[in-house]
This record gives sequence, structure tokens and C-alpha cells, in this order.
Amino acid sequence: MIPTEFEYERPSSVADAVGLLSRHGEGAKLLAGGHSLIPLMKLRLAAPETLIDLSGIADLAGIRDDGESIAIGALTTHRAVAESDLLARDCPILAEAAAGVGDMQVRNRGTIGGSIAHADPHADLPAVLVALGREVEVEGSCGRRTIAAEELFLDYLTTSISADEILTEVRVPKLRQSAYVKFNRRLQDWAVVGVAAAIDGSQARIAITGVGARPVRAIAAEQAWNGSNAQQAALLAGSGLTPPSDTAATAEYRVHLANVLTRRALETAAAR
Ligand SMILES: Cc1cc2nc3c(=O)[nH]c(=O)nc-3n(C[C@H](O)[C@H](O)[C@H](O)COP(=O)(O)OP(=O)(O)OC[C@H]3O[C@@H](n4cnc5c(N)ncnc54)[C@H](O)[C@@H]3O)c2cc1C
Repeated sequence: MIPTEFEYERPSSVADAVGLLSRHGEGAKLLAGGHSLIPLMKLRLAAPETLIDLSGIADLAGIRDDGESIAIGALTTHRAVAESDLLARDCPILAEAAAGVGDMQVRNRGTIGGSIAHADPHADLPAVLVALGREVEVEGSCGRRTIAAEELFLDYLTTSISADEILTEVRVPKLRQSAYVKFNRRLQDWAVVGVAAAIDGSQARIAITGVGARPVRAIAAEQAWNGSNAQQAALLAGSGLTPPSDTAATAEYRVHLANVLTRRALETAAAR
């Protein structure tokens, strides 16, 4: 199937892109790597009147050492994130998760901003961002604002980024003791379940993908971790989860995966 007809704009600055979003209103959609949006358009599940292609905004791509944090431009590809020496050293969970997104073609085109804004319930990077507990920066007609990871993912394919805002930057802490482990049916496939764990001193933050409409924090497991107890944390990771059953896995199997992968993620993170 081919998409419905649309107008095409390619701004060269965030300010111009914000202006175009305001001018075209609800009928406009931002285009980044196109690896989620274009398939939806081909299936005619999305039919934007205007596509605003962000690829001409050079400032939106790149990875910067910001002292205590690392700032990643929204247009940075999964491949650039996966191959970043800075991230591999200081925030390995993000490089590791990006390296496992789809295949090379997807990683060459797909972007961190597109993945987070799209908020697919099986995506890898939203759970990583929630486990890291940092934030994104957005810019819209009312100016700039920061959204905490915890307040970003609202529901299935839904974030708190407004329709007239652009996600410009993702900020993550420097946290070496962090790991992402996913279970997929085939190499390079979407996660059936994925667990992101970030250890900061005696505290751990754990977020799980594939078990609900958005990344789920495993609070009971975080409390059970208590500085080193991966086994006890893993026993509690699946408690309170009500995951879906589908062709990839039953709800019971997803709960089992959440437990097993939590243990692996915590042990890997702690060993770093
Ligand atoms: C075959 C295949 C396998 C995949 N496997 C995985 C996988 O294993 N794990 C995984 O996590 N993902 C996977 N993906 C999805 C991939 O990560 C996409 O790159 C990602 O979901 C969307 O990023 P994009 O840059 O392509 O965004 P686009 O498709 O261009 O946009 C997606 C949505 O986000 C919005 N958007 C894009 N950029 C911004 C921005 N800066 N500000 C606000 N809104 C924005 C768009 O308007 C659109 O609604 C896969 C995709 C394919 C096609």
C-alpha cells in the first residue's frame, strides 16, 4: 500500500520546525528516521496532511558530555548511540540497548528522539530512560521545557509531549553500573520483555518493557535489591504486573521473563 498524499516541509532550524507545526496544526506530523511513521502511513493507520522532516536540522544530532550528564540530540541515530565511546564508558546501558534495536538498517535510520516520542510499548529505549530517571527537553510555541522520564510515557503510543512540541534532547546520567537485557524470539527482533536496571550507590531503578502500555517501574524489586540482593529483587519483579497475552508470549511467561531478566540485568549492572 502507498500512503495518502501529503505536503512535505524540510525546515533547517528547530524554530522553523516549531513555526511549521503551529501553522499546520493537528494535520502535521514530524518525520525523523521514518522507521515507525512511514510503515504506519503505508498501512494508512496514519495519514498526516503535512510531513515536517527534521533531517535538515543539523543541531539536533550529536552526543555531548555535559559534566554530570550526557546530552543526546533527538536526531541522533541508534547506530551513533550504539557506537559512542562516551556512552559505552559512562552510560553503557544506553549504548547496549541501542545496539539491540532492530537490524543495521533500522539502526542507521531510526533515532533516539523518534523512538522515545513514538513510545511503542515494546520499544527498548523508553524503559532505559525510565530506569536512568533523567529527562528530555522539548521546544514548542510556548518555549522550552524539561519533562522528567517518569512523567513522559502516559499510555500506549502516548507521551506528555504536546502536538506542537518537538523533542530536542535526551539527557542521561553518567551511570556505569547499568544494564539492559531483552528477550526476543529472533536476533534483532523487538523485545517480548526487556529489563533496564540502573544502580546508583545502594539504590536500583528497574524499568520493564513489553509488560504494559508503557514502561513499568518494578518498585517492589527496587526495594528488595537493598544494595546487592539480585535474587530477592528478581522474585518480586513480576509482582503486580498484568501483561498482555499474545502470539509472542502468554501473560504468565512475560511475568517469568520479568523475574529472570531482572536478575540478569542487576547482576550485569553490578559487575560493571
Ligand atoms: C523492522 C523494524 C525493527 C525494529 N525493531 C525495534 C527494536 O527491536 N526495538 C525498538 O525499540 N525499536 C525498534 N524499531 C523501531 C525503531 O527504533 C524506530 O526507529 C523508532 O521507533 C522510531 O524512530 P524514528 O526516528 O524512525 O521515528 P519516526 O518513524 O520518524 O517517527 C516516529 C514518531 O515519533 C514522532 N517524532 C519523531 N521525532 C520526533 C521528535 N524529535 N519530536 C517529537 N516527535 C517526534 C513522529 O512524528 C512519529 O509520530 C524497529 C523498526 C523497524 C522498522
